[in-house]
Amino acid sequence: MTTTSIAPGTARAIELAKGDVVRVVNSEGHQVVDTWAFAADMPSDQLSMEHSRSATYRILYQPGDTLVSTSFRPMLTILADTSPGIHDTLHAACSAESNVFYGAPASHPNCQDNLKGVMAARGVELVNIPCPWNLFEHAPVQADGSLIDEPSAAKAGDYVEMRAEMDLVLVCSACPSTVGDISQGEPRGATIQVIG
Ligand SMILES: [Zn+2]
Repeated sequence: MTTTSIAPGTARAIELAKGDVVRVVNSEGHQVVDTWAFAADMPSDQLSMEHSRSATYRILYQPGDTLVSTSFRPMLTILADTSPGIHDTLHAACSAESNVFYGAPASHPNCQDNLKGVMAARGVELVNIPCPWNLFEHAPVQADGSLIDEPSAAKAGDYVEMRAEMDLVLVCSACPSTVGDISQGEPRGATIQVIG
């Protein structure tokens, strides 16, 4: 097993081969983890929340669902989920601009810059930022169509287990945002485990 620790408020990228099984672990609980995937053969083909919602006909994915790229290629199949099972698919990543929008300092660390940084280090300059799969983020849709924020209910050790359906780069950012108290206080970090 290969373990990659994500320090609070930072991101890590790992390479997965088709068939690899990976767990994103909420090491200390209540941490929202913004997650992206990029096809190894064409980084512009990316894990897409909108395409995956269309592919699964769900706004909250669950074990058995296969998430797809912008060209509807299968990317990740959810195998298991020990958390309460709510992983937002609607919210944009936090960014310097969103920090200002919500009244936080622009200089506060953010998932968008985290993603750009780890991909730039791999030679990929991202112009447009895909909507992340916001693992462990509770932002339920209300009956009137509005969204609310609830602190993540994920417990320490909860994980989402996935199988890579293609060679890809997986990026996870332990979200630094405190807007909406989505991670129940300060960020705590997370862990990526490749288990086989
Ligand atoms: Zn964030």
